[in-house]
Amino acid sequence: MNTIIEPFRIKTVEPIRMTTVAERETILHKADYNLFSIASRDVLIDLLTDSGTGAMSTKQWAAIMQGDESYAGSPSFDRFESTIQNLFPFQHIIPTHQGRAAEAILFSILAGNGKVIPSNTHFDTTRGNIEATGAEAHDLVIEEGKDPQNLHPFKGNMDIAKLDSFLSEHGKNVPCVMLTVTNNAGGGQPVSLENIRATREMAKKYGLPFIIDACRFAENAWFIKLREKGQQTRSITEIVRDMFEGADGMTMSAKKDAFANIGGWLALNDDELAEKARTRLILTEGFPTYGGLAGRDLEAIAQGLEEIIDEDYLRYRVAVNQYIGDRLHKMGVPVVRPVGGHAVFIDARAFLPHIDPLQYPGQALSCEMYRLAGVRACEIGTVMFGRKPDGSEEPAAMDLVRLAIPRRTYTQSHADYMLERIEQIVGEKDKLRGMRIKWEPPAMRHFTAKFEVLT
Ligand SMILES: *Cc1c(COP(=O)(O)O)cnc(C)c1O
Repeated sequence: MNTIIEPFRIKTVEPIRMTTVAERETILHKADYNLFSIASRDVLIDLLTDSGTGAMSTKQWAAIMQGDESYAGSPSFDRFESTIQNLFPFQHIIPTHQGRAAEAILFSILAGNGKVIPSNTHFDTTRGNIEATGAEAHDLVIEEGKDPQNLHPFKGNMDIAKLDSFLSEHGKNVPCVMLTVTNNAGGGQPVSLENIRATREMAKKYGLPFIIDACRFAENAWFIKLREKGQQTRSITEIVRDMFEGADGMTMSAKKDAFANIGGWLALNDDELAEKARTRLILTEGFPTYGGLAGRDLEAIAQGLEEIIDEDYLRYRVAVNQYIGDRLHKMGVPVVRPVGGHAVFIDARAFLPHIDPLQYPGQALSCEMYRLAGVRACEIGTVMFGRKPDGSEEPAAMDLVRLAIPRRTYTQSHADYMLERIEQIVGEKDKLRGMRIKWEPPAMRHFTAKFEVLT
């Protein structure tokens, strides 16, 4: 079977404003070649992120109308709580406005000066929230996970031996062990069930809580079903329950694998920890039965969770990335392999070897994709990570361009159109030029820096 059809039909449409190459050249120039400065109405296919950009279903929109906006004791909270507990059997479910709010609450309790927290790879907001308390975040992903061409099936796995020595070295300064599924910062790479269990056992050995950053739990479960020995005949629900068995908590962004435009939660088993978290929640987010959300959001999330574990959806979801990744690979565009769950990453440094990393090959390629195709992708490389706190600059580990795929939003013809345009770039790639930053802020420069094309 060559074509995996979208397992949905379209009831509501959102028109895309068509633009020409000439118009986009002007727009790009006005935006100083920073794609974050471009208005979304000037973008044909927006692959900047898969976070909160998915399409909701008819049932989600219907659930929105059933949202009960009572301050306390809303039945929408009951539905939210019981749907979550059906998949993830935690005692306490604490709603937040996004994943990062769950992280901020958790680390305000667990982290602090002198503490160190290991994970396979901390996502940037997780790392930021840990560091904001004065603690340190450490990444202990397996070596295979750092090699863009290594075909290991579970490149998100924790290096268990490294975790063991890390925990024995840091002893009482470690408040918990984290694990991100799938490993977003590492390219959306999955973690095997065996590795999740081994990480949990290692946490138990040292008497530490084991907390899962679960943003893409359903994509991770699908990869387990596809790739892990003995898992092929099991349901996604069974696999998800196994993934979370014995875990002490989870942080979640409902903007990922819950099909919502906003939302998240923190789940915990420990009563005392949960009590502290709820006290903090009331200060920063809201009352425990709505957190940072409206009743209608709680409903949309609950319904989304019932839909995300659908195997027809997950098969299609992963097939889309696979399709784009395989086609790019065949036309000679180097991509991170195997392709992850939510995005395709182009290795821009390998694709444009004539552009020095300090002249931002990832930025050059993403600007060309916008100019020629109207596609907005995201540079993840030297622009994002290359500036050191002292103002000096170094090439990042890799110069990637991420095509993050919003859930249920674009069709195969959108993908085919984009691939045709990228093929055109392949033919002319030697003409692409590097870039120079003409202005940048002191931190997080990728959002606002101004660029010019080198001549
Ligand atoms: C998106 C994300 C978060 C943060 O969630 P927000 O809802 O954006 O605050 C945390 N961890 C991972 C792995 C994520 O992908």
